[in-house]
Amino acid sequence: MPYAPFDWIDDEARRRAGAGLVRTLRPRPAGTELLDLASNDYLGLSRNPEVTAAAAEAARTWGAGSTGSRLVTGSTALHAELERELAAFCGFEAALVFSSGYAANLAALTALTAHDSLIVSDAGNHASIVDGCRLSRAATAVVPHADPEAVRKALHTHGGRALVVTDSVFSVDGDAAPLAALADACRAAGAALLVDDAHGLGVLGEGGRGALAAAGLAGGEGVVATLTLSKSLGSQGGAVLGPARVIQHLVNTARTFIFDTGLAPAAAGAALGALRLLRREPGRAARAGAVAAELHGRLTAAGLTAVRPDAAVVSVRAPSAESAVRWAADCRAAGLAVGCFRPPSVPDGISRLRLTARADLTQDQITAAVGTVVATAPLPVS
Ligand code: PMP
Repeated sequence: MPYAPFDWIDDEARRRAGAGLVRTLRPRPAGTELLDLASNDYLGLSRNPEVTAAAAEAARTWGAGSTGSRLVTGSTALHAELERELAAFCGFEAALVFSSGYAANLAALTALTAHDSLIVSDAGNHASIVDGCRLSRAATAVVPHADPEAVRKALHTHGGRALVVTDSVFSVDGDAAPLAALADACRAAGAALLVDDAHGLGVLGEGGRGALAAAGLAGGEGVVATLTLSKSLGSQGGAVLGPARVIQHLVNTARTFIFDTGLAPAAAGAALGALRLLRREPGRAARAGAVAAELHGRLTAAGLTAVRPDAAVVSVRAPSAESAVRWAADCRAAGLAVGCFRPPSVPDGISRLRLTARADLTQDQITAAVGTVVATAPLPVS
């Protein structure tokens, strides 16, 4: 027998190819050849001159890398400033910055639960939450999507420490979680509420303060938020926001904080620059929501099926994984970049195009995008 311990990969790859589910990496063009409705740059800040200048200045001052873990050499004054300003902006007592939103979710879920805890997790939650639940070793009850009654019932079965976790805005369909009802269920059961506001920050709430501020839950006892700095803030990194004692506990116990190199200074600087810009120009948040509503209205008027957006994600149904891939490719050939979600990223098996309603899109760009999506649609359009 030849030595070939990875032959099984070829079998899997063939199966994937047969199902039309092969993923390929493609460097995006540096210029503006493509109209971008695929990124998570909701406010168009990743290329904002003020934000990129803040990144460059931070790198010049603090270095290209953070040089170590946060508890050794990886914390700078910039990290502390970012944590103070993020917490204040979103209405929480304290914040802790991580190298990604993924790491922030793993941290919160593992540090705030024990092996005898119960985690109640929405079936539509992001993969980083799913992985955090697995890593926590707590019992996890996966409840039907956006179903507070199911959450209540699950909490009822458990006497000990419990935590309910949900995305604020679900990344695939762009619908919002019933936060007020979930908070009520948590209060009634003495459970903590952990909300991943990756898609709410910068879009929901007054001036983009996020879904928890919008729901009047920011800073509440028992409420913890996770964020990414990589969407509305146009940078990279993540954060956990909550009561000061929770943040101190994470500093001392969260493995993705303790054993990970600190966030690069350029990323911290860019996020801080973007946050300050958003505070000065709060209208950007509402504009992202308005663009989403317009995209949804025009696409459905043209006969397509799209989920009514609660934030800046517009999800358009495709009849199959293959047609979704072709649809996205046809859009790209026509100069429009859109996201394409298909199994296994979508556990419900429904493939979609995912359009990002960027606050900085012009009316002409919105019209061009709608025109391209409709013209390339695989379904008969009425
Ligand atoms: N949570 C949600 C809901 C997300 O959409 C993402 C990013 N795709 C993350 C967490 C992870 O954040 P990051 O990309 O900063 O790791």
